[in-house]
Amino acid sequence: MADAYLDLVNTPLPAKIAKALGLPRPSVLRRWTPGEVLAPHPVLVAGAGAGADALADVLLGWDVEVRRHVLPGEKLSAAVVVLEAATEPADLAAPMLELGHAVKLLVPGGRVIGVLRSAADASGPAQAAARQGIDGALRSVAHELRGGATANGIILRGDATTTDPTTLGALRFFLSGRSAYVDGQFVEVASTPSGSITDLAAATAASGEGVADQPLAGKTAVVTGAARGIGAKIAEVLARDGARVVAVDVPAAGEQLAAVANSVGGTALQVDITAADAAVRILDHVRRRFGTLDIVVHNAGITRDKLLANMDASRWESVIAVNIASQLRMNEQFIASPVFSETGRIVSLASTSGIAGNRGQSNYAASKAGVIGMVRAQAAEFGGTGRSINAVAPGFIETDMTAKIPPLTRQVARRLSSLQQGGLPVDVADTVAFLSSDAAAGINGQVLRVCGQNLVGA
Ligand code: NAD
Repeated sequence: MADAYLDLVNTPLPAKIAKALGLPRPSVLRRWTPGEVLAPHPVLVAGAGAGADALADVLLGWDVEVRRHVLPGEKLSAAVVVLEAATEPADLAAPMLELGHAVKLLVPGGRVIGVLRSAADASGPAQAAARQGIDGALRSVAHELRGGATANGIILRGDATTTDPTTLGALRFFLSGRSAYVDGQFVEVASTPSGSITDLAAATAASGEGVADQPLAGKTAVVTGAARGIGAKIAEVLARDGARVVAVDVPAAGEQLAAVANSVGGTALQVDITAADAAVRILDHVRRRFGTLDIVVHNAGITRDKLLANMDASRWESVIAVNIASQLRMNEQFIASPVFSETGRIVSLASTSGIAGNRGQSNYAASKAGVIGMVRAQAAEFGGTGRSINAVAPGFIETDMTAKIPPLTRQVARRLSSLQQGGLPVDVADTVAFLSSDAAAGINGQVLRVCGQNLVGA
């Protein structure tokens, strides 16, 4: 399962040979570690306007050294480019060209983060063109960066500001090692709904203290498919971030499930999520032990790949039943239950296959695109409440699922990403944890890809 080429090419002699031969040279990614320093080097806040000034002030409060212009030769941890003032495409030249200087100064694992307004909220075609243009420009920058650096964007919707608690939560996520394998992606942020974020979370968003290590303290989370793979890692990361975890999986995986639950100090619940009473059993378990259900992570999923021409009913129906029908049924019951918190979060695992399609996966892609449809429709119903629902779409992640891909195809799939490697389960888990946190209160109905900017996945 391990990426031996990645390890090899990060040793001196093979690195030189790979460079001479023009072979891919993936970098070891900067991932979150306890006590992480968000930005050991200065952070450039480029762009004009009150929003940029206010954001620079907040970063200073986070103990980050802030620059408003590039200083020749000085290394940068990140470049944050605030482009919310753009009203026509010509306005992009100055900030983007300044960003061009900055990217040369980024340290390995550096970050480019655009902050912009939505083209959907533009006042006319010129402003929409400028805003949509930023999308294309930043995605291209993400393709160009090397050394494990990434470029992502935060799109402000409606009256959201650059210093709204959710904007700052997203900024912190993108700056941090938690977003290591999120690249070339945009997340839309609405102004944080009142009552949906605790005073503590709002205060820590502004000061930058306290949230880093235990953002889920006091929350109860249910993770389905937690006995192994990505689900086991999600259970571990949510517990690491302070949540009490209920690990759910089928009875046949009972032993592994118990081991995961024990290792994260959580509880195990053997439930087949396709059972009609699955949600009732989960709610009952949570109510008796913890009182309130704050976070639901729909992670359990299966593949039964076949070309459509050879597809049989059982393969099609089982994938739909596990990957989407169960979620629809359970959500209906969770949402109607008083046990589900008024600030509850639902995070559902989609897949890049559900976005781009994949040969041999028409059933799986139907289920995962279905997840995206479900998330968007449910988000509209949640609108204005303290609840949210979002999807995480992993690309190529190093798991048992992708270990089944033939070796050569697997090598190629890894190198196709902008980061020239597959992601790790922890990359997906960290993104799920972010979307589950108070800091993500204004993010609803989004699909965040964890794919290294690659649409090849599982
Ligand atoms: P995995 O097969 O390793 O683990 C899935 C878990 O779900 C297993 O423990 C399994 O027992 C459980 N499960 C299956 N059916 C269940 C049911 N009816 N009730 C309860 N539990 C059930 O898979 P993974 O690679 O860890 O993937 C996790 C999620 O991420 C899935 O939804 C998958 O579609 C998605 N995903 C994975 C990748 C990847 O590269 N691995 C890429 C895109 C999306």
